[in-house]
Amino acid sequence: MCGLAGAVLYAVLPESPAVIVLATGLSLAAVAVTVAGVRRHRPVTAPWWYVFVAGACAWVCGDLIYAFQPPFPSWADACYLGAYPMLTVALFRLTRQRGPVWSGTLIDSAIIAVGVGIVYWTFLIAPIVTDPTMPPLTRAVVAGYPTAGVLLCAVIIPILLRRGPRSASLWLLTAASALTLVCNVLYTLVPAGPARLLFTGYLIAYVLFAAAAAHPSMALPVAGDADSLGRSRLGVLTASMLLVPAVVLIRGDWQRWGVVAAGSMVLFVLIAARMAGYMRRVDSQSRQLLHLAMHDDLTGLPNRRELERRVTRALTAGPCQVIVIDLAGFRHVNDRLGRAAGDQALTAVGELLRTCVRDGDVAARMGADEFAVLVRTPDGHVANRLLEMLRHPVQAGEHELLLTARLGTAAGEPGMAASELVRRADTARYAAKAAGVPLVAYTGELDERAEAAERLGADLRHSLDDGDFTVVYQPIVELSSGRTVAVEALVRWTHPVRGPVSPATFIPVAEDNGLIVELGEWIMRTACRQFARWRRDLGDAAPEYVSVNVSARQLSEPGFPDVVAQILLSTGLRPDELLVEVTETAIFGGGVAIEAVETLHDTGVRIALDDFGTGHSSLGLLRAVPVDVLKVDKSFVDEIAEPGREAVIVDALIHVSNGLGLRAVAEGVETAEQAGYLRGLGYHLAQGYYFGKPVEHPDFTAAARV
Ligand code: C2E
Ligand code: MG
Ligand code: MG
Repeated sequence: MCGLAGAVLYAVLPESPAVIVLATGLSLAAVAVTVAGVRRHRPVTAPWWYVFVAGACAWVCGDLIYAFQPPFPSWADACYLGAYPMLTVALFRLTRQRGPVWSGTLIDSAIIAVGVGIVYWTFLIAPIVTDPTMPPLTRAVVAGYPTAGVLLCAVIIPILLRRGPRSASLWLLTAASALTLVCNVLYTLVPAGPARLLFTGYLIAYVLFAAAAAHPSMALPVAGDADSLGRSRLGVLTASMLLVPAVVLIRGDWQRWGVVAAGSMVLFVLIAARMAGYMRRVDSQSRQLLHLAMHDDLTGLPNRRELERRVTRALTAGPCQVIVIDLAGFRHVNDRLGRAAGDQALTAVGELLRTCVRDGDVAARMGADEFAVLVRTPDGHVANRLLEMLRHPVQAGEHELLLTARLGTAAGEPGMAASELVRRADTARYAAKAAGVPLVAYTGELDERAEAAERLGADLRHSLDDGDFTVVYQPIVELSSGRTVAVEALVRWTHPVRGPVSPATFIPVAEDNGLIVELGEWIMRTACRQFARWRRDLGDAAPEYVSVNVSARQLSEPGFPDVVAQILLSTGLRPDELLVEVTETAIFGGGVAIEAVETLHDTGVRIALDDFGTGHSSLGLLRAVPVDVLKVDKSFVDEIAEPGREAVIVDALIHVSNGLGLRAVAEGVETAEQAGYLRGLGYHLAQGYYFGKPVEHPDFTAAARV
């Protein structure tokens, strides 16, 4: 703004030394701002910006010398003429995509240069070069200006005609180039014209060039289709070609060459028309291909690539927000209701998102059951609005599905890479899923946590090879006698550096990286082998069965029931001596996990629902899955002695379990009072620190206190 004001001031003030100082100061300030912009934003094109600065400095030197009105030709002309090659080469490199120099743009420039050059040569340069009255140096200098003008024309016209989006910096460069071109053409056509006005034009161009360098978008790679042949570009190229026969027509011998010149003009136009038709077809096909490559087939929404492209654009304009949405457990919809219903549900979610995003925002499908929304003007409420909407059931065929959405949000600032912003939102989404909460906003701490989990995962692998795991056993006792009826096998990890790590910390990590499959198999084999040893050594004094926890990931491994059968065979255990504890969340989704449970149950292995009452639809599951034992979660037992909901639930559960012919085990009993209450309610089995902590070698000979 200051620069533009200075340029206007220069235009209106009367001629004086102060005005020359103002113009020089303004030019130098523009050069300084350009250098500062390059140093601050560090673009990959920095070397070309410096070539540009060198050209601009040469130009300012020319202005300075010219101000002292030297005789013609002078050093001022040397500076001006020296500046042109630097400015044109720099402009050419700064306004096109990176890649080989020999490209369509260069050929276009060459066509324009030859066309315009022939006109300049015929009417401006040739008369000067062949004028014997002028000294050779004067001739060279006078001819140099139109020659440089041709160069500038050849570089700037393709810039003006380029297609595709332009960043703010590229717009400023385009405007500055256009102004320079206009001033140059005016100066060439009317050398004795209004010099002050032309200089003002050049000054404004300096300021615009400096603004282009100062804008942060100058560091972005030049996007778009600078090379493609649009209608306007084809028009300009055809016009450049027509200039040649036009010159022949104007200068030539009408009688002899008129028909040839007119004929070649018609030929050029016909060829251009033919090319235009072909280009139109190529254009429409490439648009279709681009649409296919950038959109999701099923929902028609932009895909991940397109979203990242739009995020890149949004980030150049200002702050924005990305929300990644995961439909938890959606995989099971396909398993349970079939692919067609799954596709319908995804289409419905896509439609829902499409209708709820505001103008300018973008809804996209990132992958199987993952969607994303780009919010151009974050107001902090969009994520909650989305959550609210996703709470309504969606239609999948004849089914109405209630989906559980997990959202991760991340805020983006200009200068950030789109892929990084999407990654952050993804990390937050992942954290929401892991914590089982609807919405998490990204913070640096999430990355630290993810890194720690990754390190823990790598350590798990080493410990599995080095044998740092053990299995401990917690008694499940009969409340009436204190006899140990069964034991629950619980894994323990002694980390070589950190010492003991809780299963609550490492089991989810092992689930995530898949190690739970190998670890779980080892636990089951170890527990069964140990149980077989107790049966052999203690006979009837040994417990009746061993209870082993099995995680969701293990259940969804296709060969899991076979692994269990093989372990039973190799350890010599009867199937009813093994009980598999599954959590409600592990089998909630149905599909492979439920099939595995059914197969196990059919072979005689018994099934317990662990942490009963804490999942989504505990009672519903009792209809869908063959269950033998309910393990009533510790959170209910904790409050059992207080009047309240928990006590009522524990009471109700024993009735449910008796009614369905199941056994109930109360978990986490820590006091005699709790044990007494449970007995009073009709519970027969319980487990907890009160009866015995998990240890490697429990004592089965002595009855536990009850
Ligand atoms: P879970 O299967 O419900 O196991 C019961 C947990 O409660 C065990 O914690 C046990 O030590 C603890 N516990 C038992 N009685 C009491 C009590 O009176 N008071 C208190 N405060 N806690 C009691 P642990 O061993 O830390 O295991 C935590 C969870 O990690 C387990 O919950 C289970 O979901 C998982 N887990 C443990 N071992 C395995 C395993 O071998 N495989 C799999 N897949 N998961 C396991
Ligand atoms: Mg358990
Ligand atoms: Mg439990």
